[in-house]
Amino acid sequence: MAAMYNKIVILTGAGISAESGIKTFRDADGLWENEPVEAVATPEGFERDPERVIAFYDERRAGLKKAEPNAAHHALVKLEEKFGDNFLLITQNVDDLHQRAGSKRIIPMHGELLKIRCLGPQEHIIPCAENQPKECPECGAKMRPHIVWFGEIPFEMERIQKALTKCDLFAYIGTSGVVYPAAGFRQMAKLSGAHVVCLNLEEVGGGYTDEFIQGKAGEVVPKWVALRVNPVNRGSPSTPQHSSPLSQKQRLF
Ligand SMILES: [Zn+2]
Repeated sequence: MAAMYNKIVILTGAGISAESGIKTFRDADGLWENEPVEAVATPEGFERDPERVIAFYDERRAGLKKAEPNAAHHALVKLEEKFGDNFLLITQNVDDLHQRAGSKRIIPMHGELLKIRCLGPQEHIIPCAENQPKECPECGAKMRPHIVWFGEIPFEMERIQKALTKCDLFAYIGTSGVVYPAAGFRQMAKLSGAHVVCLNLEEVGGGYTDEFIQGKAGEVVPKWVALRVNPVNRGSPSTPQHSSPLSQKQRLF
């Protein structure tokens, strides 16, 4: 029997973008589009060879244009529409697929590919759809991608922590949940009393997770969202319209 939830926090990771053909540097094989992460995703790499780093992100922006949001991105917009201000989407992804799908209440904690930031004292952040200018149009300082690199602190951590301690449902999608920040998020939500759900392609380690739903995000997320959004289906695992190909695990809600 599924419970009613009032405050929902969602965390999405690489898995949800992968189905749209986008690779992220948090895939942890040490490479991002065949470039070593030390070279293109650390402050030291940028200091050593800014031209290479800028060219790399220019290419990623060009690649992003070819990608489209998938069914999981669209489903999360429906969830947001249902819960309004009681919904928060945190994403580890730097692409704009959630935003393009229509997500509004979103924290891109690792930054955004389509923004750049100047190194001047005011740290101007400006939109950037294609190749990044070398100098800030506001103050003339050098510019860098608005991306949280390894060794840097993710954005809006305070707001994220506050939401996690207040939510009663936390779901992490397309992220293993065993490495930080997801590992810390599920723990924080669980210890604050939330129901914690993992939707992921591969089975992940237990602990602080109440429910695990295995499958591709584009397939499992829309079904899971439908049960949260449509009150008729909520808490009725034997409803006829959901009797088809759901696995035993999925029927738990
Ligand atoms: Zn500036």
